[in-house]
Amino acid sequence: MLKVHSRCDLSCDHCYIYQHADQTWRGRPARMPAATVQAAARRIAEHAHEHGLPVAHVVLHGGEPLLLGAAGLREVLAELHATITPWALLDLRMQTNGVLLDEELCRLFVEYDVRVGVSFDGDRAANDRHRVFAHGGSSHDQVRRALALLRRPEHRTSYAGILCTIDVRNDPDRVYEALLAESPPRVDLLLPHATWDHPPERPGSAPTPYADWLGRLHRRWVDDGRPVSIRMFEALSPGGGGTEAFGLAPADVLVIEADGSWEQVDSLKTAYHGAAGTGFDVFDHSVDEVTRHPGVAVRQDGVDGLCATCRACPAVERCGGGLYAHRWRTGSGFDNPSVYCADLLRLVDTISAHPSPTASVPRQRQPSPSVSGAGSSSSPVDALLDDLATGYGSAETLGLLAATQLSLTRALLAACRGRSGTTAAWELLVHLDQAAPEAVRAVLAHPFVRPALVHRLDASAPSGPGGSVDPLPALALAAALRAGVAAAVRVPVRADTIMVPTLGSLALPGLGESAEVTVRPGALQVRSGSVEQTVLLDPTAPPSPGWQPARDVAVPGGRLLVEDADPYRDCYGQPVHPRLELPAARELGRTLAEAWRVVRRDVPAHAAALDGGLRAVVPLAPDPARPLRSATARHAFGAVAVTPHRDPETMAVLLVHEWQHAKLGAALDLYDLVEPGADARIRVPWRPDPRPPEGVLQGVYAHLAVTQVWRARAASDQKDASAHAAHFLAWTRDGVDALLASRSLTAAGERFVGHLRHALEETSVGPR
Ligand code: SF4
Ligand code: SF4
Repeated sequence: MLKVHSRCDLSCDHCYIYQHADQTWRGRPARMPAATVQAAARRIAEHAHEHGLPVAHVVLHGGEPLLLGAAGLREVLAELHATITPWALLDLRMQTNGVLLDEELCRLFVEYDVRVGVSFDGDRAANDRHRVFAHGGSSHDQVRRALALLRRPEHRTSYAGILCTIDVRNDPDRVYEALLAESPPRVDLLLPHATWDHPPERPGSAPTPYADWLGRLHRRWVDDGRPVSIRMFEALSPGGGGTEAFGLAPADVLVIEADGSWEQVDSLKTAYHGAAGTGFDVFDHSVDEVTRHPGVAVRQDGVDGLCATCRACPAVERCGGGLYAHRWRTGSGFDNPSVYCADLLRLVDTISAHPSPTASVPRQRQPSPSVSGAGSSSSPVDALLDDLATGYGSAETLGLLAATQLSLTRALLAACRGRSGTTAAWELLVHLDQAAPEAVRAVLAHPFVRPALVHRLDASAPSGPGGSVDPLPALALAAALRAGVAAAVRVPVRADTIMVPTLGSLALPGLGESAEVTVRPGALQVRSGSVEQTVLLDPTAPPSPGWQPARDVAVPGGRLLVEDADPYRDCYGQPVHPRLELPAARELGRTLAEAWRVVRRDVPAHAAALDGGLRAVVPLAPDPARPLRSATARHAFGAVAVTPHRDPETMAVLLVHEWQHAKLGAALDLYDLVEPGADARIRVPWRPDPRPPEGVLQGVYAHLAVTQVWRARAASDQKDASAHAAHFLAWTRDGVDALLASRSLTAAGERFVGHLRHALEETSVGPR
């Protein structure tokens, strides 16, 4: 965090820089001199170079950084760029009160890709309670004008979000609505800085007013479907990954003051005069030297760095003792729980009652700047993307991707409910979801459920015979069969066929447009007009006429469906194979099982990623012109499509390649890695035509995995493997470089690709 200007044009009474215990600002230059900017940039570059950091995160802060003016800020940005970018990507942020923001500054920030966070406390009454000029006048209009400027399409990429310091005297609903009205990409809520010596205001008699206030806001947020990222709530969720204020991750922020002093995290200024000081400066001391300072080192110790009360606390994983500064008490120093302890404990409970879809993300600490610039830490986003950027991704990450895909399917299912002609199927699904959740989950996780739901919701899709059919009854039927629960469902018929997703299909001439299906354990009975048929699902029973069971094969990761019947498998933009003859299906099954073993032999980490989510393979129709084809569909997570091929070694590469697309597609359903609207076209070595950024991202991710496969084969001296490895390595390197040079990635995207580059270089050195 670079304090480029140490004075401010506002006079907020809750400001920890001017109004709290520390008053060191008085002895510092108003603006950071050019020589200090230079020295700071060199220290950051030195650190990035020595530690091989893919990205350096720099937050321009104050006081008020906009007091430097456009020309002064341009000099700072140019210096940072020139000095740091030869060694690492530069992720630039700024925290401002917004008062001076104008179009020229916005253009500058877009030019240098600076993401700007604006301090804004909510509606006029809330904002004016503290955020005023020295003469007492309101800053509300100026800040809203700044937010409107950042929202403009041409500036939007520089809009990082809003930092809101809460006050429990404000109306939480009005604050929430005022924040959302500014369409921020992210909101940071801050508890007002306080210590045990100077506890926070607690108006009224409630023991936990901050938890109550935040709980109300959290309720609105959950009810609204979490329309914006709110870091506090995400950080306090199970597995939330922590921030500077919460969790056990090591602190990773250092401050460079306007005079070049290294300081610890800024909020310590609330504890006592000089609390943030280290005695080091950028002219004489490196980052590594500062990190050995006891005040910095103690915040690298996780739970061991906390007081006994926190260490024994059931919420310690998520709360982490709260913000370091809030633990201060004269006498015992920082060896205390947070002064907000009771509120935090209660808030953790409130948030636990509504776990977020990212609840099980594994913790993996990596630096990541907050909107506020007042702290940085690994977020769930970072953890998931960093793990995927290894090329493969852990079982936990795959589990998370599968869970979030399932959530999307459930949301689409609920949307389809309104289009269903009957409520009976929905009610049966709801009942089964309570009585036999695993059966419902197994059906909804089928890769071709989501394409069916999307097709149903597509207003342009034709309806009636041959067109869109209501998918809910067939899903309820399949779930009831899997659960062994007696039920009766009227099911739409398409081309004389009833699909029972994950289990099979029944084709009988004369079924008409719908049929009454009765389910009893192990069997189903179908009636339509004069047609009546009982199907026994027992595989040892004689085959029932018209029943075509789904085909699956044992693979090291479990059972893999050879999906050659579901009508919604036709989602790959290329012709799919009609139902295979039994010998051909068996041969494909054998090849797939053997290919899976080959993946396990060559790249066990990729085999584990397949285990974690690949559930079906769709055979593509043969094409003599292109005998070796494969594909992935964004809506069909859990499946890939391949042309039937007899060589398991080749099939192994196809599976790994396509599974990369599936994983990245699922991640892209969650996070923007490419700037929305980025219209760059990028030349890559594996395609003759320039590609959009997301296509290149998909390409490099797939080619990274293929490189890893060939490297592994080269290490075991397989013929021609070294040449293949070098070929894919060169492709991937070129793709990564072109992607980074295109500047079409978001900060998360740049971080992801930066990590990919590391994974790639690891791949390219020495045998495994
Ligand atoms: S705008 Fe920020 S730095 Fe300025 S007085 Fe307010 S809180 Fe302090
Ligand atoms: S809730 Fe209280 S005791 Fe528990 S970790 Fe947080 S501050 Fe410590």
